[in-house]
Amino acid sequence: MRIEYDIKLGFKDVMIRPKRSTLRSRSEVSLERSFKFMHSSYIWTGIPIMAANMDTVGTFEMAKALSEKGLFTAIHKHYSINDWNTFSSNSPKGFENNIAVSTGISESDSEKLLHIFRSNPNLKFICIDVANGYSEYFADFVKRTREQYPDKVIIAGNVVTGEMVEELLLSGADIVKVGIGPGSVCTTRVKTGVGYPQLSAIIECADAAHGLGGQIVSDGGCATPGDIAKAFGAGADFVMLGGIFAGHDESGGDIIEKNGLPYRRFYGMSSSIAMEKHIGGVAEYRASEGKSVEVPYKGQVETTVQDILGGLRSTCTYVGAARLKELTKRTTFIRVNEQENRVYDE
Ligand code: 5GP
Repeated sequence: MRIEYDIKLGFKDVMIRPKRSTLRSRSEVSLERSFKFMHSSYIWTGIPIMAANMDTVGTFEMAKALSEKGLFTAIHKHYSINDWNTFSSNSPKGFENNIAVSTGISESDSEKLLHIFRSNPNLKFICIDVANGYSEYFADFVKRTREQYPDKVIIAGNVVTGEMVEELLLSGADIVKVGIGPGSVCTTRVKTGVGYPQLSAIIECADAAHGLGGQIVSDGGCATPGDIAKAFGAGADFVMLGGIFAGHDESGGDIIEKNGLPYRRFYGMSSSIAMEKHIGGVAEYRASEGKSVEVPYKGQVETTVQDILGGLRSTCTYVGAARLKELTKRTTFIRVNEQENRVYDE
């Protein structure tokens, strides 16, 4: 047994220090980024915020709404090949640049992926997603997928430490997904004791990825637009959101009424409700590592997008970053023991 004594930090442990700035208005800030990838020759341009590949977040409807605004969606893996064909035959041009097809690492997952790409060769991104990206089998799967799809952009995860980020990039991933346990409907830390505070995970993993010319996406734990700004400030190239995008018209999830008010169901992909829905129950040897919650209905996702982007532009003006790309360089975090004033919260 060993203990690492330096304290790892989450979003709630820091704030961003304001700095002198020559920017006169938030409207001068550009949130668009262009990325060249380590393996794929594709160059992506957009606002690097992603909806999570959860079936109550990363839906086709979400992809349409977010793509219009230049944001990205990792589509959940439970759509059928037919659903994909129908979607791509009638969706707006250009959407294929802003979505990823998600997959697990079983034989049948990789067959399904092949079918989807055969009938939709214009799709560019693959998101290989497992809860625990530390297995050798996972890195092998990334390697095989890279060989099979030399020019697709591969997102792979999840991990939280630099050495595994390097291994996945060298195995063929372009973007490594970072986060174990911070998610709003995740119970991994409770069930297993395993995890890593997200801000420190981003700082360490971004450093490892950037050293090799790769990228990371910070996945999970953002509860507010301020947290998204902190994730970018810490070095995330992309930020993935589940809970913040849940509960909208586009999100999917049953609509529930409680005391006359509308809610939408939102659940973790390893919750018992998800496992019952998609694989017929929780296998005997495992525990559910996600929960199910009812999120107050939030209307169209467009309003939330505006709120997030407005917040981010404002962060950039506070630290003098004319472009999102400059935010990390301009960020100094301060350790804190307080966040917002909650005197009027119930
Ligand atoms: P959020 O933005 O809601 O805080 O986090 C979203 C992320 O939580 C997802 O992208 C995914 O990585 C993670 N997640 C989703 N479902 C589950 C689950 O059932 N268990 C765990 N451990 N993580 C989950």
